[in-house]
Amino acid sequence: MHEVSLMKNLLRTVEGAAAREGGKPVQVIHVRIGEMSGVNTDALSFAFEVLSKGTSAEGGKLDFERVPLRARCRECGTEFHPEEFVFRCGRCGSPEIDILSGREMEVDYILLEDESGGGNACEHED
Ligand SMILES: [Zn+2]
Repeated sequence: MHEVSLMKNLLRTVEGAAAREGGKPVQVIHVRIGEMSGVNTDALSFAFEVLSKGTSAEGGKLDFERVPLRARCRECGTEFHPEEFVFRCGRCGSPEIDILSGREMEVDYILLEDESGGGNACEHED
């Protein structure tokens, strides 16, 4: 399963960041997932539950941000959202386009538990 190896890499990044802060527990991991990345967020959440056990991320929250697919035409410079993965400029019809975003799967930021209190992490979504 694709998501398991993604999560392994992600946790390695998170563990590295937590270790640099003296091994503080991870509160939130904010991940950006492109519309076209092919990542299944349910599978990723499940992989997180399983793989985070015993790491600094155990008990932390995995937060997703969906990144919409954006492309730009090389011919006329129009930026657009390819509908149903039709990669052709809607203005001039050129197939010469660059994908600007929507393929990523990356850690945006990580919030660690702050023992000094008064943290600024006030996101509660249930
Ligand atoms: Zn165009």
